[in-house]
Amino acid sequence: MNRTSLRYIRYTVQAAFLAITLLAGYQFYRFVLHFEGPGNPFVQRPPSVDAFLPIAGLISFKNFLHTGLIDPIHPAAFIMFTAIISVSLLLKKGFCGWICPVGTVSQYFWMAGEKIFRKNFRVWKYADVAIRSIKYVLMAFFLVFIGGMMSQNAVAAFLRSDYFKVADVKTMKFFTEMSAETLWFLIAAGGLSLIYKNFWCRYLCPYGALLGLLSRLSPVKVRRVEKNCTHCRACSRHCPALIDVEKQEVVSSAECFGCLTCVSRCRAEGALDLTAGVSTKRKALNPHLYPLLLILVFYLIIGGGMLAGKWHSRLSDEEYQRLIPEAAEMSHPTSFGP
Ligand code: SF4
Ligand code: SF4
Repeated sequence: MNRTSLRYIRYTVQAAFLAITLLAGYQFYRFVLHFEGPGNPFVQRPPSVDAFLPIAGLISFKNFLHTGLIDPIHPAAFIMFTAIISVSLLLKKGFCGWICPVGTVSQYFWMAGEKIFRKNFRVWKYADVAIRSIKYVLMAFFLVFIGGMMSQNAVAAFLRSDYFKVADVKTMKFFTEMSAETLWFLIAAGGLSLIYKNFWCRYLCPYGALLGLLSRLSPVKVRRVEKNCTHCRACSRHCPALIDVEKQEVVSSAECFGCLTCVSRCRAEGALDLTAGVSTKRKALNPHLYPLLLILVFYLIIGGGMLAGKWHSRLSDEEYQRLIPEAAEMSHPTSFGP
């Protein structure tokens, strides 16, 4: 298979995951509707919507490290969180480049912007570094408050709270019953995503920031071989993460999301490869294997969770009937104390 096909394989994988997400979102919407009013048919709750609860996943992960138990209310949030960080540790930030629907929508925006304006704009390089720090500050905030300051008693209380039980419903309502502030924020983010590549992922996403740092530990990296490189700069010009690949020997940046655009654009035999290993012992990997490995690891962990009975929520329909009509009014339990 030629390397150009890598881009089209990625677009197909991204579109497939986006379609799966939209279908799951619609099914969840109908599930909620059933409990909100009479006459709406019952549909099963799709557990994969828990992927949109990364903070719940982090709290659940902390609880697991402390107790060895997986919370039974949103077990899929824990499984998805574990799958996503494992993929990042093993196969760099490929989750962002191939699976994450938010990354895919971000990409559609900058591609549309490129068509409209005939180019994408670049933030001035020092401002770019400063604005990129926002996502690390947000990440540090969550890690310090949840990982450090939130006591185990507070974790246990949160996981038992009504707020946590309907965190998925509240997340959905954040979009379906959007406040004016949210709407303006999304319009601004959409506008900026049209003119700047991956605006959300590059500057604001704390989850991506965490995955980027973990991905630096991954043995899989893009490597450039100087003696075979013709310095055409196609790799640097097309990198959606704005990495100057042509100046690197091994791409170890936390911004690299493993899209393999650079590899697919390089025409010089043996100049740019996907590799696995450490320092001088790197071996070239067939880049077409990368998406297969990514999806395999992702679904192996999810499948393991399913087989262990840690995928579907144990919350009863009676509990949903009690909580869903009140979900919009519920506020966050604020205590981090003992
Ligand atoms: S695209 Fe290939 S040949 Fe061109 S600069 Fe990059 S690594 Fe070198
Ligand atoms: S360095 Fe290559 S794999 Fe990494 S983001 Fe840029 S184009 Fe994608």
